[in-house]
Amino acid sequence: WVQSRITPILDDDGKPIEFNAVYQDITNKKLLEVLYITDPLTQIYNRRYFDELMTSIVKHQRKADTDFSILIADIDYFKAINDTYGHQVGDEVLVKVSKLFVEHVRAYDIVARYGGEEFVAALHYNNIEELETYVSRIKSVVCKNKFLFNNHKIQITFSAGVELRSNNKSASEAISNADKSLYKAKNTGRNKIIFWNRKEI
Ligand code: GH3
Ligand code: MG
Ligand code: MG
Repeated sequence: WVQSRITPILDDDGKPIEFNAVYQDITNKKLLEVLYITDPLTQIYNRRYFDELMTSIVKHQRKADTDFSILIADIDYFKAINDTYGHQVGDEVLVKVSKLFVEHVRAYDIVARYGGEEFVAALHYNNIEELETYVSRIKSVVCKNKFLFNNHKIQITFSAGVELRSNNKSASEAISNADKSLYKAKNTGRNKIIFWNRKEI
């Protein structure tokens, strides 16, 4: 990346007679910016950036903007994948799951890796039915996918919680409530998504 700064040199009448250009290589600065917001393994946004984005979206949200929901997902029995196939296969599953999430949300939604095998998404919606249909589509895409590694076919399930931003005072409160529903999904059998209104899919 190169940043250029061009300044006109003016004569006594204020007319430009020549231009002075300064070019600066800002590649390292740009790379640092990307590293700061990216999860090194999966190359999707990291938790720090997701939290920053949420705060700024809420701060700048206009009335006309669509509202959004928070989805927190945690892969079920992921430790067993590491134990059975090795840590490297586990890593590759995480990379592929991240890809699936990113590919299946819309351009204005945001997905990040929130922890080890935990993902978080901000999903915009116009109405609740649309949101439910959309979340159940993501679930079936991820759970039906066959991850192939050295002749092994691996399938996964995940548990998740979904909370509406508008039910909460802040984005962080919405995240914390989504996390509570995730916890409940884990404790009541896994492989399910629990919504703020107790609906399950
Ligand atoms: P649960 O259904 O309750 O979520 O069970 P679980 O096995 O998925 O959850 P647990 O918290 O017991 O284990 C999570 C595992 O995820 C343990 C940890 O080694 C693994 N893990 C976390 N980050 C990574 C990573 O970057 N790569 C790999 N390969 N494994 C990871
Ligand atoms: Mg897990
Ligand atoms: Mg976990």
